[in-house]
Amino acid sequence: MAVTQLPPMALAAVSDDGGAAQGILRRQALRESAARTYARALPIVPVRARGMTVEGADGRRYLDCLSGAGALALGHNHPVVLDAIRAVLDAEAPLQVLDLATPVKDAFTDELFATLPPGLAARARVQFCGPAGTDAVEAALKLVRTATGRDGLLAFSGAYHGMTAGALAASGGAPSSGVTRLPFPYDYRCPFGVGGEHGAELSARWTEKLLDDPKGGAANPAGMILEPVQGEGGVIPAPDGWLRRMRDITAARSIPLIADEVQTGVGRTGAFWAVDHSGVVPDVMVLSKAIGGGLPLAVVVYHEDLDVWPPGAHAGTFRGNQLAMAAGAATLAYVRENNLAERAATVGARMLDRLRQFATGRRWIGDVRGRGLMIGLELVDPEAGPGEAGNAAPVGHAAPTGYARGTGAATNTEREGTPGCASPYQASPSEAAPCEMTP
Ligand code: PLP
Repeated sequence: MAVTQLPPMALAAVSDDGGAAQGILRRQALRESAARTYARALPIVPVRARGMTVEGADGRRYLDCLSGAGALALGHNHPVVLDAIRAVLDAEAPLQVLDLATPVKDAFTDELFATLPPGLAARARVQFCGPAGTDAVEAALKLVRTATGRDGLLAFSGAYHGMTAGALAASGGAPSSGVTRLPFPYDYRCPFGVGGEHGAELSARWTEKLLDDPKGGAANPAGMILEPVQGEGGVIPAPDGWLRRMRDITAARSIPLIADEVQTGVGRTGAFWAVDHSGVVPDVMVLSKAIGGGLPLAVVVYHEDLDVWPPGAHAGTFRGNQLAMAAGAATLAYVRENNLAERAATVGARMLDRLRQFATGRRWIGDVRGRGLMIGLELVDPEAGPGEAGNAAPVGHAAPTGYARGTGAATNTEREGTPGCASPYQASPSEAAPCEMTP
């Protein structure tokens, strides 16, 4: 089985039929946009789901190893989520409420604030955005631009923040006028030729020098946006020390720090929010995916000092999804009360360990890395010659490109303090294509 960050489901075939499913898939291919993504790689017609198991119309069962692209902290159709949704429906509560106050929203906000880093929660404001993560990113960018009166943005190589114009510009690999692209500390590709703490420190120094150089082209940005663990870029955890450096660098220059936790939130990385590992308190947190319990919901949480935009500055029809708020509140509470972040840390460490053992001597596995249960393998082709440095993965929905050590996967421990980079090999996305397993 090729295990990778994408596509999200490993196939576990238990039966085969598939006439109706084939018809649905054929019609989809005829009628839907050429831009469809997962649907191409995964010829699956999901009809039922529970936990990590999804049942297809063909009667086969599939394991969703990516939890609905990170949107399902409790897996599919968890009973507490279903009960919360049913309670809203049974109460005949209005489902479309714009951004009006409701008991459901009040309960969601209580639960959300209870989980935030205390340094932010004490003085936080929340803005309910349009339903997707990309909407929350747009809102965050507008917020910091309004609050600072500045326009430029600092963002990182390999980043992914969404598909709307501003979020796409902040993402690596996209044309990005007004965005200064900074090197993300990616040991396996070592943008500075050294990995480990030294490589991360060089990356931080590069940022510092650029900001302080009047001719560096990055003077007075409105904000810095980063992912504490890059997701679509290939599951690349930022070192805690580097995150703290980014916090210090931005604070010293009055640059709001935006943590995009759309994909890393709600326990997935082994802490409730991924910034909790480092103790960094961002000025702005962008949240979506799992906060809606699997239904569309997105918010920006930010320090009250930034709350200077006028009424109506950021509006939208779909900002009050009551079912998502109920499902989200139930999910946040369940994760918190049952210490599921700690569990993700424990199980994730075990899984990383086992995957690293598996990778030893397998030269097509370039790297095994992750944090908590956000884990990825980087697949490479040692026969195809050297690859290129930097985060070259296409934006979103693509297998990461990479470097590989000639002797198989390197571990995070091995990479700590590594003086030099691994030998580069080209990515091998075809290795990440889904394949069937025997049950
Ligand atoms: N930010 C991050 C870190 C993401 O991983 C994603 C999606 O994968 C987004 C933003 C965009 O979220 P959405 O797809 O809901 O627009």
